[in-house]
This record gives sequence, structure tokens and C-alpha cells, in this order.
Amino acid sequence: MSKRTPIIAGNWKMNLNYTESVHLVQGLYWQLRDATYDYNAGEVLVIPPFVDIRSVQVLVESDELPIKYGAQDISTHDSGAYTGEVSGSMIKALGASYVLVGHSERRQYHAEDCPDILIGKIKQALKNELTPIFCVGENLEIREAGTYKEHILKQVSDVLQVFSGKEIANFVIAYEPIWAIGTGKTATAADAQEIAFEIRKLILEKSGDEVADSVRIQYGGSAKSSNAADIMAGADVDGLLVGGASLEAEEFSKIVRIATKA
Ligand code: PEP
Repeated sequence: MSKRTPIIAGNWKMNLNYTESVHLVQGLYWQLRDATYDYNAGEVLVIPPFVDIRSVQVLVESDELPIKYGAQDISTHDSGAYTGEVSGSMIKALGASYVLVGHSERRQYHAEDCPDILIGKIKQALKNELTPIFCVGENLEIREAGTYKEHILKQVSDVLQVFSGKEIANFVIAYEPIWAIGTGKTATAADAQEIAFEIRKLILEKSGDEVADSVRIQYGGSAKSSNAADIMAGADVDGLLVGGASLEAEEFSKIVRIATKA
């Protein structure tokens, strides 16, 4: 059994306004409370749209909920004339602890696939004491061509090469095969474990076993309560990044409990 604390995160994408965000976080908390969920078994994290974060913060802080929250993106800049961007210090000021970097939807629709941009975002996250959840994964064409392992490891090493072992030790890396995101198709538990193992091996070669043992690796791509146990059985899989199934309190709370066995 791994010493790493599992992390189950709900990426809401561009769903739910600020009132709906309060409803969902309350619902999630109540579901987990009714099931006497032990938060020591695994971190529970929601990743709402920027405009919802303040409402989530007020709820979490005023009711002292043990639920964490993060942002879906972060600017590479500190501040200034960057219309539409949100800085790390702004996210930190809202009490957030995590930030997604390199989600496939940002890579694909917002031209954020280049290592320099991803490195810039992770640097801003670290500067503002936010933990990056760095997402990698292959599309269907690459999967079918059989070159997915090289592709994913290149995505990881192109970005990690500029960070020290000490920095990397706190990263969360999410393996998200693009062909499984929002499609209902899930990678098999063996697929998830294969890539999580390869990523950990790469980190071990770069930064040693202590760092490799600390990094948490999530799987994401149509994760739900019916496949959570299977996927989490992989020795190198430390959590789930859940999209669609995190928008419903009962289902997401089930995923949390099944994935953490609590
Ligand atoms: C995601 O958005 O990161 C994701 C994994 O989505 P879904 O669970 O809906 O496939």
C-alpha cells in the first residue's frame, strides 16, 4: 500500500454558476458526512470555474469544510495588461491550494501545448504556493499508432526538466488519455497503471526514489463510481481527476469513497 495520500479531484470545466457551485459543494459535504467519510483516507478537491471560487471559499471557510479547491488555469504573468487572464496571486488570495496546468482542453482549444507556456504556468503556481496538477495524455491517433508511451513521457520530461527534485516532489501529475475524456470510454486499469508506472520511473531516473515516491499520479478520463475501484487498484495510481461525474454530489461522493476505500 502506497504512503501517498490519494487525491480525488472534480474538474467542473465550464459548468455551474456561483449559486450552483455552493449547492454542489454543500451536497458533496453532506453526502460524505452521512457516509462518515474519513478525510484522512484521501483529499477531496473541487476545481470550479474562476467566477465560482469566491463562493466556494466563503462556504468552505465559514463552515470549516474539509474540502479543498483549486483553479482550472493560471496566467504565466504576475499582473498587468493581460485581458482575461487570472494570476497566481489572485488564485492564492482566494484560499485555493491547487491549479490545473496543461489540461488537454486548454492545450487543444487555447494553444497551450507548448512546454514554455506550461513551464511558465507551473512556475507561477509554485511562486504562489499552489500545487500544480500537471495533465498529460495522448489522443486516439497516437494511441492507435502505438507511440503513446513516448509521447506522454516527452510531455512530462519537456516540462519537468527545468524543475528541481524538491519542487517535483509536491507535484500531482494527471494521466488523461484524450480519447477517454468526456467520451464514456475509459482506459483499462492496466492502461492507467502502465502509464503511471512509466511516469514514476522517469521521475525516479531524473530525481531519485524519494521524489518519485512522493509524486502523486492521477488517472482522468470518464472515471465514475463503477470503474473507480478498478482504476485505483494500480500501485502507481494515487487518485482520480473526474470531469462529468464530479458535477453530481451523490456520484462524486461515491467515487471519493470507493477510490479511497473509506
Ligand atoms: C477531465 O475533464 O479532466 C475529465 C477527465 O473529464 P471526464 O471525467 O468527463 O472524462
